[in-house]
Amino acid sequence: MTFSDLGLSQALVKAVEEKGYTKPSPIQEKAIPHILEGKDILASAQTGTGKTAGFTLPVLQYLSETKHPKYRPLRALVLTPTRELAAQVYDNVREYSKYVNIKPAVVFGGVKPASQIATLRRGVDILVATPGRLLDLHAQKAVSFKRVDVLILDEADRMLDMGFVRDINKIISFMPAKRQNLLFSATFSKEIKKLASGILRNPVEVETARQNSTAKKVTHKVFKVDKKKKTEVTVKLIKDNNWNQVLIFTRTKHGANRLTKNLLKAKISAAAIHGNKSQAARTKALKNFKDNSIRILVATDIAARGLDIPLLPHVINYELPNVPEDYVHRIGRTGRAGAAGEAISLVCSEETEYQNEIEKLLKEKLETKIIEGFEPTDTAPPKRAATQSKSSFGKKKKKTNANAQNNSTDNSKKNKPKRKPHFKGKKPANTSGRGRTGAPKKKRF
Ligand code: ADP
Ligand code: MG
Repeated sequence: MTFSDLGLSQALVKAVEEKGYTKPSPIQEKAIPHILEGKDILASAQTGTGKTAGFTLPVLQYLSETKHPKYRPLRALVLTPTRELAAQVYDNVREYSKYVNIKPAVVFGGVKPASQIATLRRGVDILVATPGRLLDLHAQKAVSFKRVDVLILDEADRMLDMGFVRDINKIISFMPAKRQNLLFSATFSKEIKKLASGILRNPVEVETARQNSTAKKVTHKVFKVDKKKKTEVTVKLIKDNNWNQVLIFTRTKHGANRLTKNLLKAKISAAAIHGNKSQAARTKALKNFKDNSIRILVATDIAARGLDIPLLPHVINYELPNVPEDYVHRIGRTGRAGAAGEAISLVCSEETEYQNEIEKLLKEKLETKIIEGFEPTDTAPPKRAATQSKSSFGKKKKKTNANAQNNSTDNSKKNKPKRKPHFKGKKPANTSGRGRTGAPKKKRF
């Protein structure tokens, strides 16, 4: 099967060939024909398997083949949960649209809106955006959604969870009812699928691997360690193995800062990326990490979704995420486009329940080891201490705002909920015994 066989135009085929793609990936092969037919789709495929081109190429073809007024009203909108992902998807759209007469643009928070407004005023065919800034720009009448024919939600399950769903619904309310909707992610929970059905019309469900599964070429390992030994173990792993590019996930922004400081103290070059950093610092940290000017990027889950760092060899979970789907996304930053990768999780006694939840989702046991000299001595807490976990979806209505969640706009501080991390033995909100679907959990990066 070739890209031309899928019905894509020569102009688009030429652009992907220049990217070095020789044949479509399985998700591209399955999704592109349906999208070209104008169908709504709910597509799930593993991380790193080319979902971006899977939705971008057919949409570009549609845009370039249909007539539009000279002023170029916005006709396709791609929404992403983080600024970094918006920038990356935009880069892809730009590359794929090199040989078609289509104007792409990107808008996200944390930077001055003036140039975004100017770009939008000049006319844009396809826009990649984070929801908070997009709504701000809409309120300022810098953009109209009245002519949007195609709506794409990348990382769709995140976009439809509690932090974002209100903004998404608001944006949709300004769009024509008749439009094509494309939802893509590596993970979909049952609850989110139900929510998605409210947006999609007669969707085709496209799936390329068992849902929520991870790439086969990523080996994952758990090291059981005491909480207070995690930094030491991290430094040891990096130094002993001479790792030069490692993405490390922490649970909190404060934790990311602390670990970065300790790595620097140990003479390991590192930077942190999270929602309390300025956009300039975030962009710089990611760039330096990608071009190997620093060895370690310490991140909150802000970097878990969608970011493509080609050939990234190692991911470390300094702490396990309390939402099992986030594990799939975090470790999916390695092993992309068929490459191999290694994901290591440092798990202390308090996190045993999280490991169980992850193993349940993956339907596999994670290889669990102990490092000589770092044998754990902490004892496990009572079982119920770790029952609160599911992020995003629940009946209880909480005032929430996507801006607070990903800090994608300047007013994020105002919206930030005061919320204690629940690792410290606090009583979990959900003690009903209904497990992870019972209590909505607000995600912050
Ligand atoms: P996903 O969204 O599924 O996680 P991406 O769209 O970010 O994956 O793509 C992952 C990587 O695979 C990117 O570096 C991209 O350039 C590359 N890629 C996409 N499609 C192909 C293809 N058909 N052949 C080879 N590489 C591809
Ligand atoms: Mg993606």
